[in-house]
Amino acid sequence: MTDKKEILIVRYGEISLKGMNKPYFEKTLQRRIGRALAGIPGVSVRRDAGLIVVAGERERLPALADELIRRLTRVFGIYSISPAVRLGGTELGDVYEAASELMRQRLAERAERPLTFKVFGKRSDKRYPVTSPEIAALTGEAVIEAFGGEVKADMTNPAVSLNVHLRVGEVFIFDEKVSCHGGMPIGTNGKGMVLLSGGIDSPVALWLMAKRGMSVEVVHYHSYPYTSGRAKEKVEELARILAGYTGTFTMHEINLLPAQEAIAAHCPDHLMTILVRRFMMKIAERLALGAKCNMLVTGESLGQVASQTAESIYVTDRAVTLPVMRPLIAMDKTDIMDLAREIGTYEKSIEPFEDCCTVFLPRHPATKPTLAEVEAAEAGIPDIEELIAARIAEEETVVIRA
Ligand code: ATP
Ligand code: MG
Repeated sequence: MTDKKEILIVRYGEISLKGMNKPYFEKTLQRRIGRALAGIPGVSVRRDAGLIVVAGERERLPALADELIRRLTRVFGIYSISPAVRLGGTELGDVYEAASELMRQRLAERAERPLTFKVFGKRSDKRYPVTSPEIAALTGEAVIEAFGGEVKADMTNPAVSLNVHLRVGEVFIFDEKVSCHGGMPIGTNGKGMVLLSGGIDSPVALWLMAKRGMSVEVVHYHSYPYTSGRAKEKVEELARILAGYTGTFTMHEINLLPAQEAIAAHCPDHLMTILVRRFMMKIAERLALGAKCNMLVTGESLGQVASQTAESIYVTDRAVTLPVMRPLIAMDKTDIMDLAREIGTYEKSIEPFEDCCTVFLPRHPATKPTLAEVEAAEAGIPDIEELIAARIAEEETVVIRA
């Protein structure tokens, strides 16, 4: 009998298309997986012919599988995971036995009889003398022989999909596929400074950019004492949920109140919102350059509120030179909310809190500000550069861990 072991097959989709960069993406993903599984003893992660294989010490993996899968589904770059049996040889007799053993487990778990099944054969080692369809047919016959009328082949809608994947010197047998988020491994696509509020949108924006492989750092603005310490705690809790996907990141907490007071004292009321937004962008850009970020990221969505009209976004953008990513720009609020629920931030986001944007809220915010009028208003604020520098000098830096 050949060596038999429980493993997890980890599949990565898009990164396998990366040509010259492929080894870099694969190594980064392997490292990310290693980090996500840190602290679980006896687990090994190996890269092998287009797959990543996670194995445990003999017999230990089944007990750990749920926890391993839970952690792996949060690693970007992974498309799907299958718990599998690995045979350390390619004897067909052993394949039949392992396939029948898997079917025996499914028969024990499920009530329906006959239990329908289909075998999917795959041969990566083309030198192997038996073809993929032959492997499938032979394994199917062996399963039927083992269980008689209790099982039945069904080629169109089987209850159990038995996969036999024959590779060089080994065979994987499995019947489940857990879908993951896909994307690219974090660290392979630059770094963004994310403007994170306590609302629904910006956490989703951060998640989407991170899923695309972007490392993140975060800035949060408050207006203490108008906004409470509790509001800050809420944002930190939200950030910790996101760190479950991204790993540890830095959060800059900035008191925007002196800037808001200066704007309120020197500028027309209806431009308050857009001017505050430009301040947020300018401070974020300054922090971004210090943290070697290539971009800014916000949770804006076209037309959602007065400050997110096409005109407002144009004027906001002109406050900075770094590119501003707005991954939610074309999404409807309901779709953003669905995604927030899926990634686990929604419940935290809807907890009541005070937002710095609601301090000094104008009665009639301009929905179509022009750059000229906003720049003219801004010119009335004395010492803008010093104001910005002072906000940053007084920042509190918090390290967010998952
Ligand atoms: P969100 O749900 O992300 O708060 P929103 O729909 O409330 O967004 P706005 O309040 O106009 O919209 O904010 C637009 C974007 O500006 C946010 O998505 C976020 O990126 C940024 N932003 C707003 N308030 C803050 C804040 N207090 N700290 C940091 N960034 C903020
Ligand atoms: Mg908000």
